[in-house]
Amino acid sequence: MKRYHWDIYAVLEAPQELYFGHEVEINVNRVETVTLEGPGGKVVKAYFSPTKRRGIERRTLLWAPHRDGKTLGEHLECGIPGTCARMEPEGDKPTCPICRVYGALRPGEKTVIGRLTHGGGVAIQTLEPQEKQRAMHPSDLVRSGKDQENPTPFRREYNQPGLYYPVYNHALSVSEEEFAAAAYAFLNALPRVGAGNPKGACVLSDEEFGPYLVLDRYLVPKGARPIISPHQTDIEEALASFRQEARRVRGVSFASGKAEDAYFARWVGEAALAELERMAEVFAKEHLV
Ligand SMILES: [Zn+2]
Repeated sequence: MKRYHWDIYAVLEAPQELYFGHEVEINVNRVETVTLEGPGGKVVKAYFSPTKRRGIERRTLLWAPHRDGKTLGEHLECGIPGTCARMEPEGDKPTCPICRVYGALRPGEKTVIGRLTHGGGVAIQTLEPQEKQRAMHPSDLVRSGKDQENPTPFRREYNQPGLYYPVYNHALSVSEEEFAAAAYAFLNALPRVGAGNPKGACVLSDEEFGPYLVLDRYLVPKGARPIISPHQTDIEEALASFRQEARRVRGVSFASGKAEDAYFARWVGEAALAELERMAEVFAKEHLV
């Protein structure tokens, strides 16, 4: 079982407003933001935190449809927070492909350090979250009968549509079969990001570059890593630097979206998407169908 390091670099776009629950002030549900100090003073930006993305990816795997009619989580008897932490088969229970990569905790017994980490998430644009009025808090909807009070109006903040979020996933020393879980989770989590409704983001794509997606598999890192500075607020400059760094690999040239030598392979744009899809299929064949 050959191991590699793996990185995904992507720019996500939200086609509609998104709510990422953060904290509740009196009748206002706030989203998470970050404040940056730059040359032009303080800037507040929307934030899609890596820990939230990690949680959504893990749930995507737990809810994946298993051939026996259950979800994969039910089949494996693995959940949140009750992670199974099975690094090898125990009795008739198989190794857990989710805990193996995302880590797990069996209180008092076993801690498994995850080998997949998540980064990025600071929006490029400086559009701040907007507050909206909502008629009834979701938790009030389940109340019924005569004791129901009048609907409580509440306000909720939303990240604005069209924001671009550069995001990064890094896997440390995992086999292709193990990374397949991360590839499946990354692709399938995209339509499901955000709390409540509406949900969903997609990989930004344009004519010139295709999907803003880079996949690295390596023993030795080579060339530039397409990471957008959180201080960058200009969309055109941000995307140009992503494109430029994606194509800058030392000593290896690109052929049909892929650069490769004995220590390093990089897939860019459409080729990166195709390779992630291929690995998601490896996961589905092994663990779902
Ligand atoms: Zn598990």
